Order: sequence, then structure tokens, then C-alpha cells
Amino acid sequence: MNTPDQIIVPHRLALVAKVTRNMILILGADGAVEWVNPAFEAHSGYRLEAIKGRMPSEFLAGPCTDQDSLTKIRRHLFCNTEFEMDLLQYNAQGQPYWVHTYGTPVGGPDGTAPGFVLIQSDISDRKNGERGLRIAASVFDRSHDAIIISDQKNRIVDVNPSFTRITGYAREEVLGLAPSILSSGRHSLAFYRTMWQSIEETDHWRGEIWNRRKNGEEFAELLSISRVHLDSPANYYHVATFSDITALKNHAKELDRAANYDPLTGLPNRQWIEERLRAAKLTADRNNNPLFVCYLDIDGFKLINDQLGTDVGDEALRIIGERLNNRLEEDAVIARIGGDEFVLLLEGEQSEADYRRILSVVSDPITLQDTPIMVTASLGITRYPEDNTDAEGLIRHADHAMYSAKEKGRNQYQVFDPGQHAWQRERRFQLIEIAQAIENDEFELHFQPQLRMADSEIIGFEALIRWHHPEKGLIAPGLFLPAVEHSHLESALGQWVINHALAKMQQWQEAGQEIPVCINISAAHMMDPAFVDVLSDCLLAHPSVNPGQVTLEVLESTALEDTKSAANMLARCRKLGVQVALDDFGTGFSSMTYLRSLPVDMIKIDQSFIRNMLSDANDRAIVEGIIFMAQRFRHRVLAEGVETLEHAMALKKMGCDLIQGYGIARPMPAADVLSWLENWQSHARHKSIIHELRSANGQGEGI
Ligand code: C2E
Ligand code: CA
Ligand code: CA
Repeated sequence: MNTPDQIIVPHRLALVAKVTRNMILILGADGAVEWVNPAFEAHSGYRLEAIKGRMPSEFLAGPCTDQDSLTKIRRHLFCNTEFEMDLLQYNAQGQPYWVHTYGTPVGGPDGTAPGFVLIQSDISDRKNGERGLRIAASVFDRSHDAIIISDQKNRIVDVNPSFTRITGYAREEVLGLAPSILSSGRHSLAFYRTMWQSIEETDHWRGEIWNRRKNGEEFAELLSISRVHLDSPANYYHVATFSDITALKNHAKELDRAANYDPLTGLPNRQWIEERLRAAKLTADRNNNPLFVCYLDIDGFKLINDQLGTDVGDEALRIIGERLNNRLEEDAVIARIGGDEFVLLLEGEQSEADYRRILSVVSDPITLQDTPIMVTASLGITRYPEDNTDAEGLIRHADHAMYSAKEKGRNQYQVFDPGQHAWQRERRFQLIEIAQAIENDEFELHFQPQLRMADSEIIGFEALIRWHHPEKGLIAPGLFLPAVEHSHLESALGQWVINHALAKMQQWQEAGQEIPVCINISAAHMMDPAFVDVLSDCLLAHPSVNPGQVTLEVLESTALEDTKSAANMLARCRKLGVQVALDDFGTGFSSMTYLRSLPVDMIKIDQSFIRNMLSDANDRAIVEGIIFMAQRFRHRVLAEGVETLEHAMALKKMGCDLIQGYGIARPMPAADVLSWLENWQSHARHKSIIHELRSANGQGEGI
């Protein structure tokens, strides 16, 4: 009879075999499968019925299963001995998996049938991990790139053989040290700071860096550093890999030489200096230092080439380049950027003495083919940050200044003035536009009446130019005449004004009104030697205009300073029959001189004195003085800028009877002149001047 234990225990053991996650195979004495547990069925995909009676190696072995291991197992089965081994098996779908197999013989004296039990567990994960590690280890050992592994304190934990090959340091020499033992000293602290910042922020840095081998030789490396976190963020290593790119660099340097250097002088070329200038600007900004860009051009270099031949010319350039390079401060950078043009870059403050010295470096005699020759240069200089523009702009501005220096003669320098330059640029643009506007007939004349208070007669109109700009509308002369002044357009525009004023007079004449007109003439235009002839032609072209009705208004100006020629010129004009008025009188320095020496018919008191004369005793005194002087010299006197009745009355009292200003009317288009005049005259016939001014007011024309 079996005891309860003898019944229950095998039963329970069978249960264990069924529920365990280990795979269990029971083989018969011949090694064929007798039973497998559900874990095996699930893992291998083979049902017991399908494999019962088959040898396990028949269906579990696959192409990569180790044949030696199979042989060993067979031997253990044959000898009935226990074994343990790792084995690659294949499941029913042909997928490989690693198992650890423990095999033990069963049966024997206790009466159990002899056979074998195999207990297997899946160890694929471990096996694959080990494999990865093995690959990693071989990458580490065999990589052509050097690898440094360092800990959190950046102490070297391991290096690979390539590290030793590239740096010359053996592994044992560097373990525990910082990778900075390789430092070449070429890079700034800031460089390393940014590198570590990048590692802190992105776990990565990559770039080129110069280091030093054990033998002291510098080498360039392309370095990549990664921070590798293990299980927690605080637990990390650094893996730095680098390759030696010195050879590449040297090759690049040769290419760079070809691209950046001038073969004749060996000096850097334009591309290089622009690059350098960009960097120098940053340094200048950082250190709050000025930067000087100089443009040097040999005077009359073409002559040397033409007379002595280009070989001699080349030799001269070579010598000059060499001298500039040797004799200027060490930190001066010199480039040859064109035929006989050099650019110099000077950091820190420079003085006139420095500019002179640069010129003298060139002007020291050169002996070529036993003949001493004298060469000079012109130097243009611009100063950053005052001239705040990009590298190309700085060179261009120094070039502009060099041209100004050339205009002064040989062996001169000129410093660029950014303010003036901006103004000149704008002026150039404006002049182009104005020339176009003359062509397109965009100018027009407006007319402002001048009044004789005694009899309320309009004695004439002043012609005032306006620019009818297609986009900007009506532009006042104060906004464009300054650009025209002293330009090639000054006479052309003056001419246009004279012609148009005369044409209007002719039209009015033909309409039955003889209207005197004052024409503003710029001083330079008037002093143009051709002026009188041209004026005479204009008058001839408008035969119905009586020259006596034309008044030329001339400004007191430096152009009239040579009063003798001015007087001469005005006299010639008056010979043509026209009258002359001195405009803006009182604003110049030598008003009294003009009054005495120039042959004029009328003076116009500048509106600035009129404006304030009621409140400012000084201005009033000036107005009174001018009126008094004018009367003494028997000139008519007209007050400009009369805006109110009070002004008009005060002037009348002071003895000035002629007035012009918004109080009477604003300047009006030519087309309005006749109707305005008619309106004025019909009122004036019946009323006093006071009423007249009041009614002008009522029409919204002024006061
Ligand atoms: P200007 O010869 O002194 O002309 C008088 C200026 O004063 C005109 O300005 C006129 O509109 C303004 N004006 C007249 N009455 C009053 C007033 O009661 N109050 C105020 N505040 N201003 C008054 P505009 O037309 O702007 O001309 C400015 C200057 O431009 C002229 O000063 C003259 O020097 C010049 N200009 C104008 N037309 C010509 C021209 O055809 N040729 C030349 N060379 N210069 C001209
Ligand atoms: Ca005027
Ligand atoms: Ca004036």
C-alpha cells in the first residue's frame, strides 16, 4: 500500500513541472522525447504530440547552433552524466533563442525508468547583452579614432589603443589624469567655457581643437564629446572621441594660401583681410578699442609700369609690400588687394604721425636696376566704430578717403568723415533725381505779390520755385536747393527759372497785363562767366518782355565777396536793362559794404528782422537802420515776411513803403495771378490799404 506521502508528492511534483516557467524535457534512455512541460511547449512552439519520440537535436538545432555542444550533449546522454551548458536553439517558427540547459540522468536503483531530464531557461537577453558588450569592446579596441572615457570629475577612466597611437601616451600614463594634459595652450579659456557649457546643456560638443602630443608636437583633432548618463542623471561618464586631422588641415592650409594670399608679395589678399577685419571688429567691440582701416594706393603707378616695364613695377610692389610688412608695428596687418592698392588694419589709437609714417615707408627711395626711383602713395583712413559699417563698407570708405587724398596731390592722407559721407551720398541721389525732374518738367514757379502801401498798388511778383514731385507732392525750395548749390545743376536750374519767369511775363503781357517779376538768382549762378550772355539770350527769346520789369534778386553771399567782380557783373546785367535787388539784406557779414559798393536798385530786408521787430528792440533798430541807410543810398527798400497789419503799419511809419508777405498773399500758382490781381485792383480802387489788408485776410490769404 502506498503511504499518502508516496501518493501526494509525485502528484505535486508533476504539478510543479507543469507550472514552472523553466522548460522541462524528459527524455527516454535512448535520448528521445518522452514528455515536455507546457513552458517548453509555449516557448518552443512544439506540441508534445509532435515531438514525442524524436531526438531534441533533430528539431531544436539550427544553422547557428554550436555543433561541438551538441556532440558533448550526446556524449553525456550516452555516459549518463550530468551537464550544464548554454545553447542556441530554434523554435518552431525558426527563430533562434539562447537557453541554459541543465541535464541530469534519472532512474536507476529506485525503480524509475532510466532516462534524462533537461531543464532549460531562456538566457537570450543576457547573451545579447554580452554580445553587445563584446562588440563595444572590440570597437573600443579597434577604432581608428582615439577614445577617452572620463568620469564626472573628468578624470580619465580608460583610453583605447588609438589614443596611444595618436597622442603617444600609454594607457597607464593617463589613467586618473584630466584630458587637459593634451592641451596645446592655443585656445582661450572662453573656448573651453563654451565647450563645457554645450556639454552641460546638450550633453554634447563637437568641434576642431588643437592639442599637443607627448613629444610636444601640436596636432589638430576633430573632437566629439558626449556625456553618457547611466541609470540616473547624476551618474554619468564622458566619452570623447577624436581623429587626427592635422594632415587634412595642412592640406587645407595650402589651399587657403592659394585662396587668401597674393603670389607676388606673399601678402594676404582682399578676401583674407575682409575676413580678418570682421574678426577685428568683434575684438574692437569687446575691448572698446578703435580700429583703423587704411587704403593705400601708389601715386602714378601706371607711369612706372609704362616707362620702366611691368617687371620693374612688380618688383617695386614687392619691395613696398615687404617694407610695409616689416616696418610697421607688429600688430598691423597688411594686405594687397589690387594692382597697386594695399589695405592696412591697425588696432588701437592712431595719430597723424602714424599716417605720415606709413606714407614715408613708401616714399623712401627704391633702387631698381641700379636706378633709384621715388614712389609716393595716397592714404585714405577710416576709423571704426565712428564709421560703423561692415568690413566691405570700411574698406570702401577708406578707399573714398584715399580718393580725396589723391585730389589733394601726391603723398597725402585723408581721414574719412562718416557724417559728411552720408550727406554727400544723399546729395548725390538727390541731384540725380533733380536732373531727372528738370527733364520731366516737374518744377514750377509760384508768385508772391509785392505791395506799395502808399497807393495800394501791386508793384510786382516774386517768382519762387517749387518741385512738383510725382510721389512726394509739392516740395519747398529749402528742401532741394541746398543740394543744387555748388553742383553742376546750379546754373541749369537757374536757367530754367529765368526762362519760365520770362515766359510767364510774356503770357501775362499778351493777356494785357504788364507784371514786373523778381527772379531769385543764386550767387554762384550769377558769377558764372556765361551768365550775362545767357540772360541776354533769354531776354531776346521773350521780346515782348520789357527788361526794365525784371528784377534779379541776389543773396548776400561769399560769392559776392569779391565785390569788384560782383559789381562789374551786376553793372553788366543792369546794362541789359534789368534791375537788381539785394535779397535777405542784413543777414550777411558785410551788408554795409555791399550797400556801398554794389550797383543795386532795391534792398529786401530779411524777414527774420521783420518777424520780431514789434517785440524785439534790437530787430526794430536794425530795421530802422536798414531803412535809413537805403534811403541815404537812394535804394528802394522792401520788407519781406509781413504777416500782420501791425507789421505793415509799423513799417509804413518807419518809412518803408514796400512790403511782401503772407499778410498780402501767399505765393500762388502762375495760373491764379491774373484773377488775384484783378480782385485786388477792384477792391483797391475804392478802399484804403488797411481795408485792403483786411479784405485780403477775409479771403483767407494771410493775416
Ligand atoms: P526768399 O528769396 O527770401 O523768398 C521768400 C521766402 O519767404 C519764400 O519761401 C516765401 O514763401 C516765404 N515767405 C513769403 N512771405 C512770408 C511770410 O509772410 N511769412 C513767412 N514765414 N514766409 C514768407 P520759399 O518759397 O520757401 O523760398 C525759400 C527760399 O528759396 C527763397 O527765399 C530763396 O532764397 C530760395 N528760392 C526760391 N525760389 C528760388 C529760385 O527760383 N531760385 C533761387 N536761386 N532761389 C530760390
Ligand atoms: Ca528772394
Ligand atoms: Ca528773402
